[in-house]
Amino acid sequence: MKSRPQRKLSVIGGGIIGLMEVYFEFLESKKINETLRATVYEKNKTISETTTAHLVPSLTPDEILSVVPRGEDLSKKLKILFNEPGGIRVDDVPELKNSKPAIEFIKQVQEIGSDEKSHNHRTKVLLEMGKAGMELWKYIYDTADSQLQKIMRESNFNSCHEPNNNKDKLYNGYRIDLIYKVADAKKKAENMISEYKQLNYSQCKILSPNEVIDRDPFLSDFCSQNSTHGKNGEIIWKNDAIAVWRPGGCIDTQIFLPKFIAYLKEKLGQYINESGKVKDCFRIKFERYVSEVTYNDSKKDKINGLLFFGNSKIKHDKYPYSSSHYVFCPGENVGELNRLGFHEPAYARFAGASLMLNIPIPLQKLDAFKKLNHYMEVHQEGVVLAWQARFKDNKIFIGVAGTKAFYGDKKPDIQQAFAKNRNLLQLNMINEVLPECISLALGKNTKGQSLTDSDLTCLEQKNIAIRWVGSRAAAYDGFPTVGSLYNKEHTKIKNARTTTHLSSGGVSFSLISVKSSRKAEENEPDLLSTDILKLGRSDRTSTPRSRL
Ligand SMILES: Cc1cc2nc3c(=O)[nH]c(=O)nc-3n(C[C@H](O)[C@H](O)[C@H](O)COP(=O)(O)OP(=O)(O)OC[C@H]3O[C@@H](n4cnc5c(N)ncnc54)[C@H](O)[C@@H]3O)c2cc1C
Repeated sequence: MKSRPQRKLSVIGGGIIGLMEVYFEFLESKKINETLRATVYEKNKTISETTTAHLVPSLTPDEILSVVPRGEDLSKKLKILFNEPGGIRVDDVPELKNSKPAIEFIKQVQEIGSDEKSHNHRTKVLLEMGKAGMELWKYIYDTADSQLQKIMRESNFNSCHEPNNNKDKLYNGYRIDLIYKVADAKKKAENMISEYKQLNYSQCKILSPNEVIDRDPFLSDFCSQNSTHGKNGEIIWKNDAIAVWRPGGCIDTQIFLPKFIAYLKEKLGQYINESGKVKDCFRIKFERYVSEVTYNDSKKDKINGLLFFGNSKIKHDKYPYSSSHYVFCPGENVGELNRLGFHEPAYARFAGASLMLNIPIPLQKLDAFKKLNHYMEVHQEGVVLAWQARFKDNKIFIGVAGTKAFYGDKKPDIQQAFAKNRNLLQLNMINEVLPECISLALGKNTKGQSLTDSDLTCLEQKNIAIRWVGSRAAAYDGFPTVGSLYNKEHTKIKNARTTTHLSSGGVSFSLISVKSSRKAEENEPDLLSTDILKLGRSDRTSTPRSRL
């Protein structure tokens, strides 16, 4: 067995980003033939409490663009209640009005929003980043060992890319997205198609109702509800509905995260320490809320330890490693960089809700649902739901996540109006697309019916529905924060980085963000990483002086 590893990585925050930081460090260590010890400190009790364990993430190149409204739009949307089209205001969090971070966030969004040139540049870099991120997911899968490939397949991983062999079929880089209850749905679809074509996704197109049914018969109910007959008797979409064939993938992070942790544990292996004890090279330490960092000296440019809530003992390296680094990935816990004494760009939480259903299937109907397996996004006015539905463990699994409201630095709660209302909306949207499944779940015919709070409660009581509300962590410019960390005296920390504020696209953008963040340690990063590192600096503000 090997002796103590040469390299050490300490990660603060055990979300998808923190885990990807470990994976990339592991790949690098292998490349340079060094051994690695990695420790992740996570405040939650288990991995199933972290944000993405409650989601069914969609993988798209523009996933990150959908959350922070630009400039004056934010103020306009804040005047509209979350359940009205375009609204993001909540009324049952009164402390939000006087929250300094929320006020600062709104101010900086407005300031930066008026600069057209910087907005266009940021959007261009985000889209390039998204495209590179999609390629990286595919590359990681294609080059992974068979064990990780198996984990990704079991986690319903489907990559987003131009179809292999030009084959126009589901699960080959493209998927069907549904749009309905949207005035002039065709225009929305055409805009989407034009944006993806600009990113060189060449196969995008509008699908007719019959083309949708051909590809996915489980969408027949949706198609018949939302179509009509054209002049020549052909079946066409109603004006407010349409389907788009577009690049898009998915991964079931609820399944992926625990398996990935076990994989990292196995791959990093074990070592014998100086006292002859066998130790794991990879550890994820739960219930370790990092509350403070300590430094080598008063210059505060080199971290040498961490302190945890409820524990006065400093955790520092007892043994000299050839390299020892800290990466801060606090995600939903916005403001944490600031609280720990670092610069953090103006930040806010944008709440989102998810609903997961596990519907038992009577024996005689099992065969009818065995082929259910789709992933998509379903769009309504002001609502986009990431969606995965499939036959799993002899049940129908349907997971959806999305919707948004501005919460500033406050945490959303499952009992608040936003979560309750959006979960009910989600249940109704599932019923509008897959009424047969909801009828089975509720034991009554729900086709064309509007479902109520008591239906949702009934599903929760039957252990069929799991409701959840959580947050996307966003910086004022909607850009992720990546690369070097700076202390409050503007000094760069030599042995620390951050990868955070991934907003609505933290799964899609996880690999590319971590890859770019790591480039902060290189002398000549590639052009895209250079742009990302400039725009994502952790000491940026909306004032022209530091806008890059
Ligand atoms: C409803 C909803 C739907 C979404 N859908 C999609 C989607 O379809 N596709 C997509 O790509 N993205 C999606 N996202 C966004 C994605 O979930 C986030 O961008 C992603 O979770 C960011 O990952 P992260 O690791 O940075 O943060 P998180 O997932 O929030 O993880 C951060 C972790 O750090 C821990 N932590 C924080 N501070 C400390 C501390 N001081 N000490 C110890 N631990 C700490 C937290 O407990 C947490 O577990 C969605 C988000 C929401 C809310």
